[in-house]
Amino acid sequence: MSQVLRAQWTIIAQTAPQPWLTCRRCGEARRFRSSDRVRVNTNGKRVDAWLVYKCTDCDDTWNRPVLERRPVQAIDPEFLASLGANDAAVARRLAFDVEGLRRRADRVAEFDDALVIKRVLSGDATSARQLDILCAVPEPVGLRVDRLLANELGLSRSSVQRLEASGALVASPKGARVRRAVRDGMRLLITSRDVPALQMLTDIQFRHPDRSAKRGVEGPFMLRGTKKGPSTTPRYARLRSG
Ligand SMILES: [Zn+2]
Repeated sequence: MSQVLRAQWTIIAQTAPQPWLTCRRCGEARRFRSSDRVRVNTNGKRVDAWLVYKCTDCDDTWNRPVLERRPVQAIDPEFLASLGANDAAVARRLAFDVEGLRRRADRVAEFDDALVIKRVLSGDATSARQLDILCAVPEPVGLRVDRLLANELGLSRSSVQRLEASGALVASPKGARVRRAVRDGMRLLITSRDVPALQMLTDIQFRHPDRSAKRGVEGPFMLRGTKKGPSTTPRYARLRSG
C-alpha cells in the first residue's frame, strides 16, 4: 500500500486586504473595507471605474480607481460589462489585488482567515507515513504556513516548527518558509512515524482505541469530523499587519 498520502488543500482567503487611509469624516487614519461594489462612469469615449471602499468606522467611502480615463475601445468589452454588472467574482479579484492596493495606500492590512478545502489525490490515510500537501491559493492570503498546518492538523504551532527543524516537514519550492504566508503552488511534505494529523487529511479523524473506549464508543476507531462540506478555519481570524 502506498506510504504517501497526496492531498490538495485549496485555501480561500475570506477577508480582502484593507488599506489604511485618512478618512474625511473621522479626520484620522482608518481601515477601509471593500464594499464589493464597482462604479463605472462612461464619458464619451472614455471610461472610469472604481471599486468602492467604506471606512470601517463611519462608512464614509473611498473610490479605488480601477480604470482611469481609459478609451472605451481599449478595454475588453467582456471585462467592461462585468464591471458594469457588478460581477461578484470580478469585484473579489480586484479587492484581493494587494499589490495594486499598495500603490494607493502606504499601509495595507492583510488577514489570515481562510476556508480550507481538502481533497485527497491519492493514498490511504490509515497506512500513509508521509503527507504530501499541494497548496492552491487562488487569492493571496496572509495565513502563515505554520498556522495553517497547526489549525488544520490539530497541532501546536511550536510542534509544527519542530517538525520543520527536524527535517520532518519540508516546504518547497526552495526558499519557502513555514513562518511565511502560504502561496499558490507551495508543497508541504511531512514525514513522520506518528503524526496524528495524517488521518485528518480526509476530514475523518480516527481516535486511538483506548481513548474511544473511555468515551464508550464501539470498535477500534471512532470516526469524528465526518461532517459534509469543507472544514473551515475562521476561528483564528486575526489581523496580521497594518
Ligand atoms: Zn471614517
